[in-house]
Amino acid sequence: VAADDDPETDAVLELTDVVKRYGSETAVSGLDLTVGEGELVTLLGPSGCGKTTTLRMIAGLETASEGTIAVGGDVVDGEGAPTPPEDRDVGLVFQEFALFPHLSVAENVAFGLDDPDSAEAERRVADLLELVGLGEYGDRSPADLSGGQRQRVALARSLAPEPDVLLLDEPFSNLDVSLRVRMREEVKRILDEAGVTAVSVTHDQEEALSISDRVAVVNDGRVEQVGSPGEVFEHPTSRFVASFLGQASFLPASVTGEAVETAVGSYDRDLLAGLGDGYAGSSVDVLVRPDDLRATPAPEADADGVVVRRQYTGPSFVYHVRLHDGTVVRCLHNHTEEFEVGEPVAVTLVADHALAWYPPE
Ligand code: ATP
Repeated sequence: VAADDDPETDAVLELTDVVKRYGSETAVSGLDLTVGEGELVTLLGPSGCGKTTTLRMIAGLETASEGTIAVGGDVVDGEGAPTPPEDRDVGLVFQEFALFPHLSVAENVAFGLDDPDSAEAERRVADLLELVGLGEYGDRSPADLSGGQRQRVALARSLAPEPDVLLLDEPFSNLDVSLRVRMREEVKRILDEAGVTAVSVTHDQEEALSISDRVAVVNDGRVEQVGSPGEVFEHPTSRFVASFLGQASFLPASVTGEAVETAVGSYDRDLLAGLGDGYAGSSVDVLVRPDDLRATPAPEADADGVVVRRQYTGPSFVYHVRLHDGTVVRCLHNHTEEFEVGEPVAVTLVADHALAWYPPE
């Protein structure tokens, strides 16, 4: 599905001003979300921001306190009695996969079908097992499968009744790290091939950015920004979104005529994305991530700051540098560029793209 399809025109799922209260606790506080046909939209946000509650309301396991939820154009919550979960055409893949241990793989997949013993059901199960790469595994017991295989069975089972919307709640959190990375690519392929509309929930930003058609960044029970992974990463519309994605630092800067003055040098004002006229004399905070900055050893007198932390990430180092004004920035380096904690360094902006910026707090 093309990312530029307008989700408003072919919305399969629409949440409007949805609120969920538990007593005095507000879990979801006015959430709007539109998901277009065939899209995978991921709700990304910190623990407790209301992601799971939102998913549970879409599934019908919770009722919204306010607002409406529509699936395939039908209001399922918000007008009259809420539609029960089983009548919503919504599938749910749980974290723990929840397979039936006493049923075979094929029987698990057939479970949600109206007539699981029919020839048609048998064909559908065979097709789905083929789709998830388990064509030969129909007769096995779930107990004899690996974690990744179990997840694919769970996915095939939720796809079997052809739901309008498939919900995935932290679908990779029970898998070890290397399997998680492989499975998320695999799941994305399966969802694309099945052409299913899906909403997933995670607090793992890398996962959200790598598999989603669009990412909805949730903060405090509402969507703070929604856009393609590139949009939310490169053009975060708020400091919260900026800080939540990538290792962000904010570099204080002042705009003077044609230039932007920072603690790590003076740059052309084109450095700042979409900076209009009338900003001369203003102070701004520029969003910088580790790959935007490079450090070089410098004599104390020429240094912009000092290395305060060395973070080994495997393929690279990230050096945390405290600038003279107290700001801490992070610089990405390969293995040949090694510095010691305490070493004075000069810092240069090497970004090859315009940077997002925010008014000072
Ligand atoms: P996590 O990533 O940790 O799963 P989340 O974003 O999915 O978090 P939710 O589980 O939706 O967050 O919870 C949102 C808020 O609502 C939290 O403050 C939580 O404590 C509260 N909450 C969730 N369910 C209930 C409940 N049944 N009763 C009372 N409060 C609840």
